This record gives sequence, C-alpha cells and structure tokens, in this order.
Amino acid sequence: MPKISIVVPCYNENEVIETFHTTLVETLDAALFPGRPGDAGPAAGRDTYEICYVDDGSTDGTRERLRTLAETDPRARYTSFSRNFGKESAMLAGLHMAQGDAVVIMDADLQHPPELIPRMLELHSHGYDQVIAQRDRAGEGLIRSAFSQAYYRLVRRAMDVEVIDGAGDFRLLSRRAVNALLTLPESNRFSKGLFSWIGFDTVTFTYENVERAAGSSKWGGRRLINYGIDGLLSFNSRPLRLAIHTGLWLVLSALVYAVWIVVNVLVSGVDTPGYATLIAAMVGLGGIQIATLGVIGEYVGRIYHESKRRPHYVIRETDETTMPITPKAT
Ligand code: UDP
Ligand code: MG
Repeated sequence: MPKISIVVPCYNENEVIETFHTTLVETLDAALFPGRPGDAGPAAGRDTYEICYVDDGSTDGTRERLRTLAETDPRARYTSFSRNFGKESAMLAGLHMAQGDAVVIMDADLQHPPELIPRMLELHSHGYDQVIAQRDRAGEGLIRSAFSQAYYRLVRRAMDVEVIDGAGDFRLLSRRAVNALLTLPESNRFSKGLFSWIGFDTVTFTYENVERAAGSSKWGGRRLINYGIDGLLSFNSRPLRLAIHTGLWLVLSALVYAVWIVVNVLVSGVDTPGYATLIAAMVGLGGIQIATLGVIGEYVGRIYHESKRRPHYVIRETDETTMPITPKAT
C-alpha cells in the first residue's frame, strides 16, 4: 500500500486543530484499516500515513498544540515558521516535508471534509496524478461568489493555464506531481496556476461546500484582491500586451480626431474651443498611463523579488523526524 501524506497549513487554528486531527485520524483509520473501525491506534498508522502540519507563524498557541500532537501521536509531524509567510509558503513547506507516495493538501478548518480522502485515493489508484475536490458555492455570500466567479472567468481568459472555479487547494497529488511542483523555483507562488502548469492526468469531482468548524477565515477583502492580482500577473505578460494595444488604439483615435478637427476648421471655421473634450481626454489618458505604469511596475517588482532568491520561509522549529529539512533557496 502506498504511503499517504496529508499536508495541512495552519494559521491561528488553535480552536479547531484538535477536532481536525481526531476527525482526520478516525476517517483515515476507518478507510485504511477496515477491520478496525475508529482509531486503530498510532502504531497502526505510522507506516501507512503521516500528517504534516505547517504552522504559518500562528500567534494563538497553535504551535504549542502541534508540538504536543507530534509528541503524542507518531503520525503527526509539524514544522513551524518564524512568522506568517502565507498559505502558499506553508503548502510548499508541507510538500517539502511530505514523504508519502501520494500527498493530500487540505485546510485545517474542516472545510475540506476528510471523508473525501478515500474517494481521492480510489481515483488515484486508477492512475490519476492529480485528484481535485471542487466545492460548489452553496452557502457562500452572494457578493463573494459573484466576484469569484467573475474573477475566474477573467483569469481563464487571461492566463495560459486552466484554473477551475471552486477548485481550491484540496487535492491529491502523486509523488511525481509533487516532485514536479518542487522543481518550480519562483518565489511568487500562485499554486492554483502551478498545479495546472505541471500537467499530468487530472480528475475533478465536486462536493458540497461546508462552513468552517471553528475560528475565523483569514482572507479579508484586501488579501483576496492581492491574491487575485498575483494570480493574474504571475502566469504571463498578457496585461502588458493589453496596455500596448490600448495605447495604440488611443493614438489612432487621437489622430483621427485631429484630422477631423482640421477638416472641421477648414469647412466651417473655428467654433467654440473644446474645453470639456480636452479635460476628458487628459484625465482619461492620464488614468491609462498611470494604470499601465502600475502594470509595468508590478512586473519590475516581481523581477526584483525573484532576483533576490530568498527562501520561501524561515523555520522556527520542527519535530525530530522533520529536523533535517531546510527550505531550498532555489
Ligand atoms: N492559512 C495559512 N496561512 C495564512 C492564511 C491561511 O496557513 O496566512 C491556512 C489556514 O490555517 C487554513 C487554510 O489556510 O488551514 C485556509 O484558510 P481559511 O480557512 O482562513 O480560508 P477560507 O477557507 O476562508 O478561504
Ligand atoms: Mg476555510
């Protein structure tokens, strides 16, 4: 039987981590050791699966809780960051940690139901390298779901890689898919795009959206918008192309307008000066210039960021089995 690694990024999940762990262990044991329903005991699990918790610089005692978990349950391992590096970095650290032949990435808040893991494993055994559990948007705020749907439509149009609406980070990856992901060196990681970029046979199934078990969501409006911008910009330079096209069209229409003015003066003489037109044109052009500069600046910033080649995270502490693992400064 292949060994399974579960990667769980945790940021201030103190309230829910205990429940999460118990639920996960029970579900996995029931699925993997059918003869012994419920918790088959830590010893039974060890070689079959491991749970790699990554504490993303939590400030609410999540770290202490994970440390205790790792001490009491040999199936649990953990790595703790020196500060909050973001979910992308936490997932990456988890992938570095994971030793399994199949790796499942899931949230700590039980919004990714552990009951679906057996189904993912089943699909994986049919040869799929990526198994995506896609949630529907039931129970989500109307505005938020409208925005994210529009966003995904935009991303799909603007990017060269396929990103599926509602397909979060709850997925199973085969060993070779994980290895492929780990070879990608960029420091600005947008996993949704990277997952799709590596390719391999992928299968998707849907499940009903669930509410967070406890604690609160870490994604406020600003964070989501920034995440959205990351997604759009990290996969190609199409926005720059768009800026060039807009600029060219504006130059063309300005020429046409100028010709029209000249013809108009020749035909009917000078009439009232075009005050309003002038202001409108100036403001419009100014706006477009600033926006274009912003886009260019964003890319330059990215180049600067990548050229520093900093590691994706700094580890504060890990459990004994994980100790030798250091982030690769690729
Ligand atoms: N998370 C993280 N680092 C962060 C923010 C979130 O590791 O900076 C983790 C969080 O602990 C959870 C998962 O990412 O396990 C998803 O976060 P959350 O449930 O807040 O997002 P939502 O489900 O609301 O999109
Ligand atoms: Mg959540």
